[in-house]
Amino acid sequence: MKNRLPVWFKQDLPSQKALDLSDSLRNEFKLNTVCHSAKCPNMPHCFSNRHATFMILGDTCTRRCGFCNVKKIERGLNRQLPVDFDEPYRIAQAVKVLNLEYVVITSVTRDDLDDGGAAHFVNTIRAVRGLNPDIGIEVLIPDFMGLHNALESVVKEKPKVISHNLETTSNIFSLVRGEANYRRSLNLLSNIKSMNPAQVSKSSIMLGLGEADSDLREALYDLRSVNCDMLVLGQYLSPSTNHYPVQKFYSPQEFDNWKDFAYRIGFKDVCAFPLARTSYLSLNKDRQCTIS
Ligand code: SF4
Repeated sequence: MKNRLPVWFKQDLPSQKALDLSDSLRNEFKLNTVCHSAKCPNMPHCFSNRHATFMILGDTCTRRCGFCNVKKIERGLNRQLPVDFDEPYRIAQAVKVLNLEYVVITSVTRDDLDDGGAAHFVNTIRAVRGLNPDIGIEVLIPDFMGLHNALESVVKEKPKVISHNLETTSNIFSLVRGEANYRRSLNLLSNIKSMNPAQVSKSSIMLGLGEADSDLREALYDLRSVNCDMLVLGQYLSPSTNHYPVQKFYSPQEFDNWKDFAYRIGFKDVCAFPLARTSYLSLNKDRQCTIS
């Protein structure tokens, strides 16, 4: 059990610009961002670069991953949670007014919806594009319960990047992601490429949940076996003592080693350092990976 954060987690205070952006997103546009709900350490940096990650479909998830800080559905509640159909338009408005350059659209997992929320992703992409034709759009999608048509509807919208996180290695999966399925997540990434081979795909793994080097190597080879293009590796930080405990803090040098390994086995773009998070690696206009 690791508690004290190593020195390399020291961070600068957020700029006023970042704080202003964060306030207007929440107060003016009534929008959820993963930045807030997941206590993302990079919020100041991303907001200062006019990048934001919007969480659609509410702030309550129908699953209970042990590492995640997002609000969870009440146990035994078997009614459908609400869907805010005005949300896509408000996100499009926020993107325009705040002059954002790149947005990531993600969601909690909504197993209570027939399509897992795919239609709301499509409506949000279309609304954002409608008001901001040049915007870079990335979607970070749940597994849509493995529904082929749901995934296809999102792939057809051709966002710049489609992300789906493996989050951890096959041997740790059942310990922290009981309702998800390692093979189903790999199949989803594989299906993205069979539906549109030109579509850029991306995945992310948190380090420090107890995986051995051999487990991590296996997971990276598995992602390459489904032609995943972009990879993010970041340090798992436990949101509270009620969440799954950190088993190990990887040093910046270890992250560099894994980054080199990932490039050697064929990933096109890799972001690997302790504070790296999924939306931190974006694809700017020149297809260059930027630290957003
Ligand atoms: S499915 Fe996603 S949002 Fe839901 S608990 Fe798991 S990690 Fe968090």
